[in-house]
Amino acid sequence: MQGGDQGKLAGRVALVTGASRGIGRAVATALAGAGAAVAVNYHRGHEQAEALVDELTGSGATAVALAGDVADAGQVREMVERARSELGEIDILVNNAGINRDGLLVRMGEEDFDAVVATSLRGAFLCSRAVARGMMKVRSGVIINMSSVIGRRGNAGQANYAAAKAGLIGLTRSLARELGPRGVRVNAVAPGYVETDMTAGLPEEAKERIRENTPLGRLAQPEEVASVVAFLASPGAAYITGAVIPVDGGLGI
Ligand code: NAP
Repeated sequence: MQGGDQGKLAGRVALVTGASRGIGRAVATALAGAGAAVAVNYHRGHEQAEALVDELTGSGATAVALAGDVADAGQVREMVERARSELGEIDILVNNAGINRDGLLVRMGEEDFDAVVATSLRGAFLCSRAVARGMMKVRSGVIINMSSVIGRRGNAGQANYAAAKAGLIGLTRSLARELGPRGVRVNAVAPGYVETDMTAGLPEEAKERIRENTPLGRLAQPEEVASVVAFLASPGAAYITGAVIPVDGGLGI
């Protein structure tokens, strides 16, 4: 986070799913930089998550790495319990974990549809459900869901991903209505294309097309999404709920 934001989240506890790499890693770093204690969730990337925790604690933050498949209700329960016992009640949940398994509709297997929806959408539902009671009890808390420009516009070859990301917008707005009266804010961020492992495999021609269609003329860096998430988590966003904030360089206009 930028210098002026230091300490804005002091005393807060954040859980960031899928924080071993990419956007989630940048979000965990930004929240820790603003003073939050951070639970770094990962699925397969044990070493990367531990390396991030070392980096964060090395710079004076409090952080722990927590394994767990967000699509598995039992693992989510366990992960949230561990976060609570190691760091305290969770104030900020960032539902960031996600995968893509692209393919044209007629060739898309059911398992590819189900896996993408399970990780992004069911994962966000399970994690939100696991933290909501604690947040409602203290009448404060923030949930931020990682949607996508694809969830707003759709994309050929990404029916599963677009459905999951559009579903997250519905989840965000429903939970904002349901939890707002109990003091909990729920928002979504909708990035365009971000330079992470998820987009690293795109052919150069596809990246060139994206640049051409993006008014800002480039892909985003993970930190440019993380700074918006950190803002939404901060007191400065106290009156924002149910919002879907595009962070897409204008691609979604
Ligand atoms: P990434 O670099 O591929 O990282 C994905 C992260 O999700 C990893 O930390 C991975 O953990 C974790 N993950 C995957 N399955 C999981 C599961 N079942 N349980 C827990 N964690 C799991 O992806 P990214 O580009 O940073 O994307 C992060 C989020 O932003 C995703 O929701 C993605 O859809 C969204 N997004 C990305 C872009 C983009 O252009 N990159 C654009 C819009 C939205 P392990 O490595 O430990 O398995």
